[in-house]
Amino acid sequence: MGRKSLSTLQLGFCLLPYMGMRCPYCNSTDSRVTDSRPDTEDAIIRRRRVCNQCGAKFTTVERVQMRDLMVRKNSGKLEAFDREKLRRSIKLACRNRDVGDEQIEKLVTSIHRRLETETADDTVTSAMVGQMVSDSLLNLDPIAFVRFVSVYRKFSRISDFKKILAQIPADDDNANVCALPKTSLF
Ligand SMILES: [Zn+2]
Repeated sequence: MGRKSLSTLQLGFCLLPYMGMRCPYCNSTDSRVTDSRPDTEDAIIRRRRVCNQCGAKFTTVERVQMRDLMVRKNSGKLEAFDREKLRRSIKLACRNRDVGDEQIEKLVTSIHRRLETETADDTVTSAMVGQMVSDSLLNLDPIAFVRFVSVYRKFSRISDFKKILAQIPADDDNANVCALPKTSLF
């Protein structure tokens, strides 16, 4: 008695890499890990798996999450923070720009981590998220910044664009503006 034993939760966490990950091809939960490696950022581990049923190979990603964040929308409604949604909106703003998936993933991770550390009660506002994305995109790519802000702030007039363009430093004026492929117009 008195000896500490692993709780079910701890045990589940230890066994996580070895059990129950569903194969996206045949739905079997019987797969084995063939390779595990930390990502460039140490908060992620990628595991290469092989399905024991159909032989398909796939990768799972394990990510450290400090908190279960909630986002308060402008309407007052609360919803769970959705990292994928954040990634999609940044990706959309960066479409056809010279910004790689890896850069976008890093951006999402840094924003996610800032949100986790800058709130005291697990709740952030959509305005906080929007501001962090805008600030990051302004440094990364001015065109993506303008695109994101115009959607996020629901621009409806040309004057809205004029105001936001005035925030972009003049030396960014010629930065990569020809990154749209010529064939994409028609
Ligand atoms: Zn399978």
